[in-house]
Amino acid sequence: MAMEHPGAAGREGAVSGEQQVEQWADAGIAEVVEEPYYLPVGDEVEIFEAAYARRLPVMLKGPTGVGKTRFLRYMAYRLGRPLVTVACHDDLTASDLLGRYLIRGNETVWIDGPLTHAVRIGAICYLDEIVEARKDTTVVIHPLTDDRRRLRLEKTGELIVAPPEFLLVISYNPGYQSLMKNLKPSTRQRFVAIDFNFPPPEVETEIVVHESGVDRATAEALVKLAGLIRNLSDSGLEEPASTRLLVYAGHLIRSGVSPRRACDLAIAAPITDDPTVQAAVRDLVATVFPA
Ligand code: ADP
Repeated sequence: MAMEHPGAAGREGAVSGEQQVEQWADAGIAEVVEEPYYLPVGDEVEIFEAAYARRLPVMLKGPTGVGKTRFLRYMAYRLGRPLVTVACHDDLTASDLLGRYLIRGNETVWIDGPLTHAVRIGAICYLDEIVEARKDTTVVIHPLTDDRRRLRLEKTGELIVAPPEFLLVISYNPGYQSLMKNLKPSTRQRFVAIDFNFPPPEVETEIVVHESGVDRATAEALVKLAGLIRNLSDSGLEEPASTRLLVYAGHLIRSGVSPRRACDLAIAAPITDDPTVQAAVRDLVATVFPA
């Protein structure tokens, strides 16, 4: 089970100090990943291992639902390191990552945030969709990404030097970028970027079979459908059907939902609200799954 750091999602003031202490303390445990299923697409495993050996921060770059998170879980398992995952959002501040003082009874105690915790224990720290976070978070991660590999806690005056096992990994979806939310060159040029994209059809078919349990012919049809959707030119789609959605459709089919309905629910509806585009996608579904 992926464990996100609840503290990162919590907002200052949204819960009582006592609850927050509990949340943050519980969340202090990084996840030890059990072997996840991951089917490599290219040389990403070797590249990641090389980067890890050289302590180079890594950026997993690509659209949503194409295996970035699964890959990182697999790498954490392979490298035998605990994983701390932070799902970044637009309220996430540097303090959410670093930690904060909280009042516990009569005492004021410092509670490490997920990034600080990861640095202390030499974990792999995954900042998912870093571009979503507040700008002050980049100031915090920069010193961790260069040779100094250190984290300064201004509030406590502590300077933590990351142990060799620590690695910072971010994910970044170029498709979501806007002028308001862009990863600055000064940040992105601190990472080795591993590109993720839709897997080739044979690999994607294998993934859909494994993940959803559908038969090969059905998985092939779903992958074919995805190819057609991905080739729709000028569709206005922000992002076409991801591997994740094919897996979802596969699950519904496995549960007895008809393939057409499953594709409607798991593919056509999630990828667009535009009725015209939905109709176009349904036409493609009908060609791949004739009644
Ligand atoms: P991302 O982090 O890129 O948004 P995920 O890693 O959550 O995407 O992948 C979504 C789902 O797609 C996974 O839960 C898994 O079922 C499947 N998946 C995608 N690529 C792979 C792969 N190479 N090997 C195994 N499963 C994959």
